[in-house]
Amino acid sequence: MSRRSSKTIVVKVGSTTLTREDGVLDETFIDDLVGQLCDLRDSGHPVVLVTSGAIRSGMAWLALGETRTVPEKQAAAAVGQSLLMQTYGDAFARRNVKVAQVLLTRDDISQRRRFLNARNTLAQLSRWDVVPIVNENDTVVVEEIRFGDNDTLAARAAILVGADLLVLLSDVEGLYLPEADDPVRIVKAITPAVRSAARRSGTAAGTGGMITKLEAADIATQSGVSMVIARGRRPGVLRDIAAGKLVGTLFPAEHQLTSRKRWIAFGPQIRGKVQVNEGCRTSLTKRGRSLLPVGMTAVHGRFSRGDLVAIVDEQGNEFARGLVNYTSAEAQRLVGRRSNEIAAELGSKDFDEVIHRDNLVISDAGRE
Ligand code: GLU
Repeated sequence: MSRRSSKTIVVKVGSTTLTREDGVLDETFIDDLVGQLCDLRDSGHPVVLVTSGAIRSGMAWLALGETRTVPEKQAAAAVGQSLLMQTYGDAFARRNVKVAQVLLTRDDISQRRRFLNARNTLAQLSRWDVVPIVNENDTVVVEEIRFGDNDTLAARAAILVGADLLVLLSDVEGLYLPEADDPVRIVKAITPAVRSAARRSGTAAGTGGMITKLEAADIATQSGVSMVIARGRRPGVLRDIAAGKLVGTLFPAEHQLTSRKRWIAFGPQIRGKVQVNEGCRTSLTKRGRSLLPVGMTAVHGRFSRGDLVAIVDEQGNEFARGLVNYTSAEAQRLVGRRSNEIAAELGSKDFDEVIHRDNLVISDAGRE
């Protein structure tokens, strides 16, 4: 893997890799990791660290048992997060590097304005040469606005900072196919066989396991970011990856969407579905057209103007997503109508199209 210098590398490290068996942060490991991150910086790669371990280390610090209520875990995360920052902060300071804490929630990425704000902050930190240390804001999130795992959070962070490589450090060597002794070296496409291999593997104490790592690979590679899964405790793992050695499992980046389209594809949560006929599917996927009301056959869910909806074919398979110009109630009334009938149906017409092609992203399924 050859990379131009000065490209940002996002490194995510999981809870089990960072902590000892009793959940206490492993300072020796963290110091070595930070040393490798500083080496990457010295060789011209800005780095962003995405760290887990707030809940696990907080619970260990408070000497709490394993099973706890959600508020207890959230409170433990508040304790653990400050331990994490202290430990990383000291390790970076020993190398004269400054760090910043960046805590995100799903909502921060879902709204375009907040996404851009976060992006600006990260860009400023990069101009100051400060290393951002990112985690989910576990203390304030409830289920609906959680990422829930730091693998997909890291993939989105990689998009936020325009990285070209995402490294997920875990306690496995990479992705294993059934009965193989070594991990797969390169995964060019996330096929059903790859997905079922992921379902069968998993790590013990981390939240994610292999399934969320594949989700992260989906998000990253479709946004022009290559991803590597490797064992965090392999000596010199980051140095080897930066030197271009094939370590663990590599998911090479695919085509690159524009920043806005990347955000549409992976930022907001889907609020509803618009079903379309075959002719409409072809005009969107093959000709890059906008979605007109005449192609719609059904509308599901409740959404407002500007929300993200999935576009599904007659069999219900999603092949695209986009930001809608009309509410679900309006869209219901426009099913099968021609654009010149919109004004008569709704009393006024703001747009010819239900989803403009600039606000529409075709997924892999739609490109086949
Ligand atoms: N944000 C969680 C923590 O720091 C970890 C989520 C994960 O394991 O992926 O404890």
